Amino acid sequence: MKMKFCDECGTFLRERKDGLWCPKCRKTISSKEVLAPRSFKKEDSATIQVIDRSQIDYVKVSQTCPKCDNEIAYRWFSSVSGEHAGVRRERTVEHFRCTKCSHSWSKIA
Ligand SMILES: [Zn+2]
Ligand SMILES: [Zn+2]
Repeated sequence: MKMKFCDECGTFLRERKDGLWCPKCRKTISSKEVLAPRSFKKEDSATIQVIDRSQIDYVKVSQTCPKCDNEIAYRWFSSVSGEHAGVRRERTVEHFRCTKCSHSWSKIA
């Protein structure tokens, strides 16, 4: 473990089971805070966001194509708003596209 000094008083921190301890301020700094720099965490979450976005747009699901009986299709969602009996409603539409013949169909969830 690296040598570490207290942020507040500059005293050399002692090693303890649960992290580092300042004998002057009597506070404990957990080993987790010391070992995980904040900048690394930021990069990590940014990478995850990019992956998530592509998965929302296009997900492969097991769905039988009505045209060629292929069992894998891409799926994505969209919402349509329409009026029914004077009441405005939002509806989610499930879209599918066959990975083999590119036939696309949709159904209202
Ligand atoms: Zn201190
Ligand atoms: Zn097909």
